[in-house]
Amino acid sequence: MVIASILNRIACPQCACLVLEDFYYKTRESDIICNRCGYYYSKTMKSISDGRIEYEEKEIFGFGCSVLVKKDGRNERTVFNEKISNMDIDNFLICWNKTDTEQEKSFLLEHDKGTFISLIGTPPEDFLQPFDKIKAPYKEEHFHRKRRGP
Ligand SMILES: [Zn+2]
Repeated sequence: MVIASILNRIACPQCACLVLEDFYYKTRESDIICNRCGYYYSKTMKSISDGRIEYEEKEIFGFGCSVLVKKDGRNERTVFNEKISNMDIDNFLICWNKTDTEQEKSFLLEHDKGTFISLIGTPPEDFLQPFDKIKAPYKEEHFHRKRRGP
């Protein structure tokens, strides 16, 4: 069976940045995972009785993300569903200090009470642009640093 879904570009309910919502239009189930603050939401079908569908909703708040870019182009993204601990920071620092890491493109970002705090490195300037300020959101999922010209 093919489960058809469409990707909606919406503002993250927690940080207001662009996020992709995976929406299964036949069952009206949906999933949201924010790459920036780490917010997670899912709505899944629980039961059907007398033609009525009962849904189960799950929401997990996010505490930030890390992006680690390697010189060969690979990148590793992590989102945090718990407050970033000292151990997380130490572990990231070890990876960040490796010779094959592109430090200027790698960062560890904490999300706390609606604010982003850069713990290590610097995210690209448009990384945290609010959804409503993005002129061409379809371009947004690329992680490349965009330069404002000329
Ligand atoms: Zn978010």
